[in-house]
Amino acid sequence: MNLKINLDSPHIKLKGLGGYRIEVLKSDLNIHSIADLFHLIPNRYVDRRKFYKINTLAASSTEVQIIGEIMDIKKIRNTSGERLKAIFRDETGSIELVWFKGISYMQKKIKSNETFVVYGKLNEFGGSLSIVHPEIESLHSFKLKGSKGILPVYPSTEKCQKARISSVFLRQIIKEAFDAFGNHIHEALPLHLREEFGWPEKRTGLQELHFPSTFENLQKAQFSLKFEELFYLQLQLLEKKQLRLKNIKGFVFSKIDTYFNTFYKQHLPFELTEAQKRVLKEIRKDLGSGVQMNRLLQGDVGSGKTMVAVLSSLIAIDNRYQCCIMAPTEILAKQHYNSISELLQPLEINIKILTGSTKKKNREILHDELANGNLHILIGTHALIEDKVVFKNLGLAIIDEQHRFGVAQRSKLWKKSKLPPHVLVMTATPIPRTLAMSYYGDLDLSVIDELPPGRKPITTAHRTDASRLKVLKFVKDEIAKGRQVYFVYPLIKESEKLDYKDLMDGYDALSRDFPMPDYQISIVHGQMKSEEKEFEMQRFVKNNTQIMVATTVIEVGVNIPNASIMVIESAERFGLSQLHQLRGRVGRGAYQSHCILMTSDKISDDSKQRIESMVQTNDGFKLAEIDLNLRGPGDLMGTQQSGVLNLKVSDLIKDSQILHLARKKAQDILREDELLLLEKNKIIKNTLVQIMNDKAFWSYIS
Ligand code: ADP
Ligand code: MG
Repeated sequence: MNLKINLDSPHIKLKGLGGYRIEVLKSDLNIHSIADLFHLIPNRYVDRRKFYKINTLAASSTEVQIIGEIMDIKKIRNTSGERLKAIFRDETGSIELVWFKGISYMQKKIKSNETFVVYGKLNEFGGSLSIVHPEIESLHSFKLKGSKGILPVYPSTEKCQKARISSVFLRQIIKEAFDAFGNHIHEALPLHLREEFGWPEKRTGLQELHFPSTFENLQKAQFSLKFEELFYLQLQLLEKKQLRLKNIKGFVFSKIDTYFNTFYKQHLPFELTEAQKRVLKEIRKDLGSGVQMNRLLQGDVGSGKTMVAVLSSLIAIDNRYQCCIMAPTEILAKQHYNSISELLQPLEINIKILTGSTKKKNREILHDELANGNLHILIGTHALIEDKVVFKNLGLAIIDEQHRFGVAQRSKLWKKSKLPPHVLVMTATPIPRTLAMSYYGDLDLSVIDELPPGRKPITTAHRTDASRLKVLKFVKDEIAKGRQVYFVYPLIKESEKLDYKDLMDGYDALSRDFPMPDYQISIVHGQMKSEEKEFEMQRFVKNNTQIMVATTVIEVGVNIPNASIMVIESAERFGLSQLHQLRGRVGRGAYQSHCILMTSDKISDDSKQRIESMVQTNDGFKLAEIDLNLRGPGDLMGTQQSGVLNLKVSDLIKDSQILHLARKKAQDILREDELLLLEKNKIIKNTLVQIMNDKAFWSYIS
């Protein structure tokens, strides 16, 4: 009987592994299946192949392994507490072993005149050598368990320790798992790839991971396992993209007509930058191709993405389709609405806005106009994707600042018309290539890598509270020249109350420093009603107030060219990408702009690094790379997306070289054998089908 065993099944049955430990494996080590167990990546390895003689030990030898006997063992009690001290001896000399914890357990375990293997980190104290809390095992059991070799040290938690899930234990159950299920490990990489790089079979590779024969073999195994994971990730993304190109027909926007041409020739307020022109060409080509467009537009803050969005929507309208523009916040939606309405005013285009606070009556009118096709462009927030919102013929969906939207929300847009609309996603978070390749591998990428001309680079300075008076004087001078200023305070969810107090204290202090009637101050924060926010915002837009005190609600996209100073309070509490976004609120006009990062005197090393990076560069891509290294990709992209990848053995940052190789190989293979029909690629085909099936299966269950 050929019983098929699914190593991914969430039922782990192994000797010596009871219900509680299984629970801890799940909760603390994320092990839900035998496959997970096989893929548990050790944190590090210890070399237990070599035995040292005591007379060769030097304080510099870090971790050592010795065979010998316990000579003398005694409990010592003094003012600082209890400890257990043993003299351990081989034929060349002796050394001290010390325990502060588990004393009675050790006293029972260690008997003199038995031979032990001792392993641990060497300490030197007052000229004599000792090992504190060594691992100790009788030679007999050492030989029995096969502890000699290169041994893995697995991740552990407090709960693991309590449940006695040690590295030794894990190694033992992994061995058992290999004995019982090793035959069911499927080969996943074809011979031609393994031969090209000299990689072992998958089963051998996994075995090397847990029971390495040599460091060299271990390294090969690690590399091939990481490659395998990233290779299939890339294959899936490339396949998805091919599928889209082939099967997902898109509306054909065949012509460029009056709306676009009139606007472009007569009403464009400035000449497009070369980068904007290039990107627009890429989009035009997509829209006319008959395939649904799925394009990510990256451009640093202030690079002029909005104009690209406007021109794209005119193409849609020229072809009698509707268009929607979705923004992550109400403020931003309003701002888009105001500026786009103004731009397109000469064209007699019907533009409306829909947000959470749109009045019921307006909403009804809007729903009607959407359904009968009289509404051309709908701008709004998440409210746009509610089921009630029905378009007559949505042809283009533009999503601004996409890092705030999840994948699920994006896909909801698809259901809004007969064919999926063309999608343009715009983001100011510059995503490093390695990440973009993985998260958005199925999207096409356009980049605006040029700022509009005449911009003076923003100068950035770090100041502490000690120089607050100087900062205020500087701000006053700029206001005297007619400029406007932002003061931004942190708003972190966990401590909303505290942040609110900080903000209000700051506002009070600023009201004293900048007294009425000479100065007018606007304030905007998350706890205000949207009408109030809008009112305050408009006062600042109209230059009725010179100072805007705000939390990060203004982080994204706000565009007020006359504002030239950004003061960020408690800057150490902001993330790097947030700081960069905030800084992007200034430097939007022709004036020299400044960003001042205020912090307390003492800040952590991490914060220092973020602040220094900000001072040193205005380049969003560079900052994103630094951020990625500081924080890791999950954080950068938002948990929603990071969960999608579910990588077990590889790390997008540390393994970016392997990622590139994997992508290249995947492309090469698909180029030669698009449908994976060749005999030599059969394993790839089967594995890919398996992955897809499992995904469908598990997503069906959850
Ligand atoms: P972002 O990419 O951050 O969304 P915006 O679209 O808000 O940037 O553009 C920032 C500012 O630059 C706006 O005031 C806009 O009018 C202006 N702008 C955009 N493109 C150009 C251009 N080619 N030449 C001059 N100014 C431009
Ligand atoms: Mg923008």
